[in-house]
Amino acid sequence: MNLFDLTGKVAVVTGSTKGIGKAMAEGLAEHGAKVVITSRKADLCDEVAASIKAEGGEAIAVPCNVSRKEDMDNLLAKTREAYGQIDILILNAAVNPFYGSALDIPDDAFDKTMDVNIKCNLAFCREVIPEMQARKDGAIMIVSSIGGLRGSTVLGAYCISKAADMQIVRNLTAEFGKDNIRVNCIAPGLVKTNFARALYEDPEVAAKREEATPMGRLGEGEDLAGIAVYLASKAGSWTTGQVFCIDGGVTAVGAG
Ligand code: NAP
Repeated sequence: MNLFDLTGKVAVVTGSTKGIGKAMAEGLAEHGAKVVITSRKADLCDEVAASIKAEGGEAIAVPCNVSRKEDMDNLLAKTREAYGQIDILILNAAVNPFYGSALDIPDDAFDKTMDVNIKCNLAFCREVIPEMQARKDGAIMIVSSIGGLRGSTVLGAYCISKAADMQIVRNLTAEFGKDNIRVNCIAPGLVKTNFARALYEDPEVAAKREEATPMGRLGEGEDLAGIAVYLASKAGSWTTGQVFCIDGGVTAVGAG
């Protein structure tokens, strides 16, 4: 038996049409999971689900803006209708509407950051944990950031929200560990996606970040797929309440 086999498991990955979420969904599908591809854009959801199926995987597309409760309800209902249950929940979609001093962030940008990056994650957990409790099995991951582990002069609210995600996994672990529900955070370093474009598109800035990274390069979405497969599978059966920094070594040397 393969420790990483996900045959028969059903995974919902929010924000899975691009970047890290897409790479995670593809990794789970390659290991046998049925995956639900979801983001705000229906055409992209269809495209990614179709490409997974073309590679021999199993996927459906259900558009969902995670900040709309009716979208979340529809996503979970459509998943259960198609596949019966949810075994793996990856909360990956997040926003960062403000870049700058803590003194300047508008209230609405602060509220949006807390709403999407914290409250929506908890809302999804509230909806999915009861069925996992009933089966005494489930894996939940929240995609946080190494930004949640240290101070920032320009991404303050975002980093507050990512630190809160780390506390959510500890709280849920304390409450639902006895139900065999594993809840972990994945904290990426700088990954070359649209989301982080502003942080690496200037070649000088990118070179500095690469130099500060022990492995000498920035991340790609695919670098995050393995940790998702590990945490979703039997390999991660006694792993919960943790924060996994997947960052080419940046946090190990206090750099970046
Ligand atoms: P990305 O390439 O921009 O992908 C983000 C995905 O989320 C897209 O599929 C996007 O699709 C979807 N999305 C955005 N807002 C959404 C919403 N309100 N509802 C549903 N889906 C939404 O970004 P990424 O870099 O992979 O980021 C994924 C996660 O990694 C985030 O939690 C981010 O904070 C975290 N992270 C990224 C980095 C990095 O350097 N890239 C570092 C640390 C942590 P639509 O826009 O079409 O909805």
